[in-house]
Amino acid sequence: MTKMTIPKISEQIAVPLEAIASSQRIAILLAIGEGEACVCHLETILGWRQAYISQHLMALRKADILEDRREGRYVYYRLKNAAYLKLIAASAEVCGLSAEGVLNIGDTKTHASCECPHCAPTLLPVVSP
Ligand SMILES: [Zn+2]
Repeated sequence: MTKMTIPKISEQIAVPLEAIASSQRIAILLAIGEGEACVCHLETILGWRQAYISQHLMALRKADILEDRREGRYVYYRLKNAAYLKLIAASAEVCGLSAEGVLNIGDTKTHASCECPHCAPTLLPVVSP
């Protein structure tokens, strides 16, 4: 086992922190929470353009924070490790917010304007002619 030094450990710890250290990425992780979400669902919750969200999703996946799963025409994203949510909750406490409140901000309700299978499970997938 190689000897751990403070600089070495710090370098390792900084990797995931740097990967999530932007308000957009924290928002995406909070919106996904412990479940999974597709891009159109995130688009509805966050109110951002799909291309913008996709760009952050790709970066988070590349950083090994998110993993994806394809089902039909939808790609679902989820956290590889729920500890990222604890990390965000701890950061919330540092700035005086309630950790619990921040973790419960993710909404699990369905949205009429979203047509993902979570929001519109009764709709059959649209087949292009
Ligand atoms: Zn949805």
